[in-house]
Amino acid sequence: MNKNTYNPYENMLAVLDEAASRLGLKEADYITLRYPEREMIVSIPVRMDNGEMKVFEGYRVQHNSARGPYKGGIRFHQNSDLDEVKALAAWMSFKCAIVNIPYGGAKGGIKVDPSKLSRDELIRLTRRYTTRILPIIGPDQDIPAPDVNTNGEVMGWIMDTYSMLKGHCVPGVVTGKPIAIGGALGRSEATGRGVMLNTCNILKVLGRDIKNTSVVVQGMGNVGSIAASLCAQAGMKILGVSDVSGGIYSENGLNIPEILAYLKEKRGNVLADYQALGITHISNSQLLELKCDILIPAALENQINKDNAHNIQASIIVEGANGPTSIEADEILQKKGITVVPDILANAGGVIVSYFEWVQNIQSVSWSEEHVNAQLKEILDTAFFDLWNLAQEKQVPLRTGAYLIAVKRVVEAKKLRGIWP
Ligand code: GLU
Repeated sequence: MNKNTYNPYENMLAVLDEAASRLGLKEADYITLRYPEREMIVSIPVRMDNGEMKVFEGYRVQHNSARGPYKGGIRFHQNSDLDEVKALAAWMSFKCAIVNIPYGGAKGGIKVDPSKLSRDELIRLTRRYTTRILPIIGPDQDIPAPDVNTNGEVMGWIMDTYSMLKGHCVPGVVTGKPIAIGGALGRSEATGRGVMLNTCNILKVLGRDIKNTSVVVQGMGNVGSIAASLCAQAGMKILGVSDVSGGIYSENGLNIPEILAYLKEKRGNVLADYQALGITHISNSQLLELKCDILIPAALENQINKDNAHNIQASIIVEGANGPTSIEADEILQKKGITVVPDILANAGGVIVSYFEWVQNIQSVSWSEEHVNAQLKEILDTAFFDLWNLAQEKQVPLRTGAYLIAVKRVVEAKKLRGIWP
């Protein structure tokens, strides 16, 4: 969609510049935020199962470390490129700042379609990528985590590779690990849980009843599937969901547990083949334009753009994905009176529980799932209501408000530390 004209990094800069100007910052105060502190491009040679050799391109971008070590996921995607990873790294800096956890922002990626690789090829790709970025990651330096098409298992391979090369076990180098090797209870559901908590909070401040709320979710990966499931459990009606193969819709509400069981069984993203009484198959673009109360884009960037923003019928958008709305679309949505809970808050649940995982790893302690979920809710509620109050007071959209808070925090940290030397 619009891939030729859309540049995620330029989108990030436009939002940053607007916030800086509203904050009355001088260029010298925030100019460093316009540039990542470090960008690394690596080549990753992999011996394929058929004996052939292939070289993949990978990235790790460290945007800002004024507030703490760099933090952010690693994605495996055929369209990943440096500009995308740079934008994602900057969004991590602002995400950690708005929820006030002591991290800077980073992101990694490999340009690869992982569905085309065998498990053994994926292991070799992940391990070799880890060795390439090894000089710049570490528990006090830069802590990766899962993102699009990566999961706990991949994090386990990264943790093992790093530990082998250091000569001792270093669980805190990466978060989102399996529980048995230092993962946090609640981490794999945390991003989706955060989306649900933010959805409940926005409904609350707008005086809407959770039980009469209809929801549409784009993307049935880790974020979308958990968000759909927890929103359904909270009493909302899930009208439509989609994955890469297409979407499904039912005006009476979909049976989310049954759909998740189906997806799990098939071991892939195959909603186009799902059959059930009363459902209609629709395209991904039809799904985004369905009439509903809440739209949760939980796939990739630039899904809501100037071409389809006019047709969006939801009254609230809760951004499960990073960067799903382009700046042009944002303006259109605003004119239409649609409330957007911005990505840097809406999907921050993942990195918050990553922080809890890292804290447990470096202290060698383990928290119960109840404790993790309660702490997550406390952090998200504080961030949400502080943002809501500020946006009301300043009469700005929630995205602008979120950047006002986040940019101010990063700039303050930078000022307190000063420029070295
Ligand atoms: N990839 C997730 C995100 O975009 C999680 C990052 C993390 O836990 O470090 O927020």
